[in-house]
Amino acid sequence: MATSVLVLGAGFGGMELATVLSDELDEAEVTLIDKGDSFVFGYSKLDVMFGREPAAAVKLPYAEFTKPGVTPLREEVTQIDPEAKRVVTDSGEHEGDHLVVALGADYDFDATPGLAEVDSEFYSVAGAEKMAAAIPEFSQGRAVIGVCGAPFKCPPAPSEAALLLNDDLISRGVRDDCEITFLMPLPSPVPPSPETSEALLAEFADRDIHFVPGARIA
Ligand SMILES: Cc1cc2nc3c(=O)[nH]c(=O)nc-3n(C[C@H](O)[C@H](O)[C@H](O)COP(=O)(O)OP(=O)(O)OC[C@H]3O[C@@H](n4cnc5c(N)ncnc54)[C@H](O)[C@@H]3O)c2cc1C
Repeated sequence: MATSVLVLGAGFGGMELATVLSDELDEAEVTLIDKGDSFVFGYSKLDVMFGREPAAAVKLPYAEFTKPGVTPLREEVTQIDPEAKRVVTDSGEHEGDHLVVALGADYDFDATPGLAEVDSEFYSVAGAEKMAAAIPEFSQGRAVIGVCGAPFKCPPAPSEAALLLNDDLISRGVRDDCEITFLMPLPSPVPPSPETSEALLAEFADRDIHFVPGARIA
């Protein structure tokens, strides 16, 4: 009998595991459960934010994910029994010989007072879409790109946003009318990679992007 594997979450982790199991096992019976209808690469949110792609173009529907032995289900996981390897979803119950939890990390917008009201983040697709509407309206004044706490997903992404904003303002001929400040709670842009951090700091200096290390938005 084929071994059954329940994979909860079809983000990077769940999709990669389901793919490897399908490729490596002769008989895989993988159930891949996600509450969403499509996969989005994290970096695509920057493309959406700067109007390079519409959100619809970066959503990769799970329905088109056809790997032998993998059944994608659109359901929301509401309970996990790790010992019985059983999960409850909004549509029913599932059991497997193996259970893998790959549900990612949620954002805690309420942890930073005012953040929800400011409504200007690019870490969700919906947020990136709102930024795509707001950025073309910004043509003078001060822009602050800030990180509200650590650890956070994708340490290079805020640096990418600062550099792309710089490019965007130049392309619209308004860079001289705008300031870009980048606040980071960590001591450097990408602490695990000192070389990357050094290269980024040089690029920020070249582009007049004001980098403030060790500053967490409260
Ligand atoms: C702006 C940005 C840029 C990035 N750029 C890069 C990059 O260039 N390179 C890189 O390697 N990484 C990048 N990342 C980081 C990368 O996206 C994350 O590290 C990665 O998504 C984490 O994978 P994961 O599988 O752990 O979680 P996720 O990808 O978050 O997946 C979790 C999945 O679980 C689902 N889920 C959650 N709760 C439930 C529930 N109760 N029921 C059912 N389903 C549920 C979610 O819908 C989601 O699909 C970026 C991230 C961001 C935000």
